[in-house]
Amino acid sequence: MFIDLAQLLRALCHLNWAFLSGNIMDYDIAIIGAGPSGLSLACSLRDSGLNIVVIEKQSRSQLADPAIDGRDIALTHLSRKLLKQQGSWQRIGDEHISPIACAQVVDGDSPYTLDFKSPGPQTNDALGFLISNHLIRKAIFDEFDSLHNAELIDQCEVASVSTQENHAQVTLARGDTIMASLIVAADTRFSASRRQMGISASSVDFGRTAILCWMEHELSHQHTAFECFQYGRTMAVLPMPGNLSSIVITVPSNQAQDILEMSESRFNEDVKTRLNGKLGDMKQTGQRFTYPLVGIHANRFYANRFALIGDAAVGMHPVTAHGFNLGLSGQDILASEMMAAQKKQQGFYSADVLRRYQQQHMLTTRPLYHGTNSIVSLFTNDDFPATLIRKAALRISNNFPPVKWAIQQKLMARNQIKSLLPGF
Ligand SMILES: Cc1cc2nc3c(=O)[nH]c(=O)nc-3n(C[C@H](O)[C@H](O)[C@H](O)COP(=O)(O)OP(=O)(O)OC[C@H]3O[C@@H](n4cnc5c(N)ncnc54)[C@H](O)[C@@H]3O)c2cc1C
Repeated sequence: MFIDLAQLLRALCHLNWAFLSGNIMDYDIAIIGAGPSGLSLACSLRDSGLNIVVIEKQSRSQLADPAIDGRDIALTHLSRKLLKQQGSWQRIGDEHISPIACAQVVDGDSPYTLDFKSPGPQTNDALGFLISNHLIRKAIFDEFDSLHNAELIDQCEVASVSTQENHAQVTLARGDTIMASLIVAADTRFSASRRQMGISASSVDFGRTAILCWMEHELSHQHTAFECFQYGRTMAVLPMPGNLSSIVITVPSNQAQDILEMSESRFNEDVKTRLNGKLGDMKQTGQRFTYPLVGIHANRFYANRFALIGDAAVGMHPVTAHGFNLGLSGQDILASEMMAAQKKQQGFYSADVLRRYQQQHMLTTRPLYHGTNSIVSLFTNDDFPATLIRKAALRISNNFPPVKWAIQQKLMARNQIKSLLPGF
């Protein structure tokens, strides 16, 4: 038999020292990052017959019992449907799910509000659903843990990724090598693997920090979410189960420390005053959390045998609450395309499959990303012309039924749809 020595040597060159000294493991798909997006993709591929490994820095016990991180996630109807399909939604008790019946946008101290109301009293009529992030993450991890075709390598950092024509390779910091047909990166908005694969991204540092906490209050929120664009800061008040709300205050980063250091009694009084006493007396429960706000949109969602999902593809400003909703819909598109290719006995890792994923997902993410960033710059700019445009925008949206209808449809859509309006 003829052996092509040059080819053999070339193949050997691809094997780095880690490859020679550590273990070599073989999978169909290597997912980097066991956040909610990475684990959701594994769950969506439950019946694909593909062998999956998920590599994560955190420990299994941190993933199985995630700490409270202050984030309460507003989920759309489509996200609820996708979480139900993957089996995670059923793992979250009804008592932890808070339907949003009404949303009010408030500008400055003007009494004028832009209102959205659910069309009826049933859960199915809700504008969306609020659930604490740690509960979502736990439910998805438990579902992932029940899969027969996926395993987790925890407490392990990915050192590098590379792809060749015939395979993809993940090198772990501990020295092992994973060979796979496809790498999917779900390794945060600051994705190191995205950079290693040469995929550029546009990013915005908003120079602002979000401060999050839970507050109990005297009066019922009636399942209403408030988004208050106040001078110098924004404040979202999101209805949680019972007389509890999730508070998200966004300020220029140089003011965040003052708010963090505020005594609890002053903080309680401050939030009550800024809400004009709408919810009566307010009382902080638990701690305050901070998140510096940076938005990122990758310019491509794939490369040879490599795809980006979740925040690694698009990391949103939280004001429009799209981040994980997009993470869920993106992984669903990718999984569906891969399984359709499998059925036709085509490569699930092929450029055609990945291109179709990118085309569909970008159609939604691009307008939402840029629309959200425009909303942020309009509503955080307190110059006179910007405040005028804000007031006009609220009134137009309120009084022009097609605009309101389109926004509401987007919130309540149960299927993958194209963006109806830039910004929503
Ligand atoms: C304040 C705030 C409020 C938000 N509110 C909403 C909302 O209301 N609605 C909504 O839809 N979204 C919201 N989001 C967005 C949502 O939280 C994110 O979109 C979501 O958590 C992203 O999930 P992910 O799995 O893509 O990434 P991540 O959760 O960032 O997970 C990435 C994982 O990758 C791991 N990792 C990274 N690098 C490596 C490596 N080299 N090796 C191994 N592992 C690695 C990390 O440890 C991590 O576990 C909000 C975000 C913030 C900050």
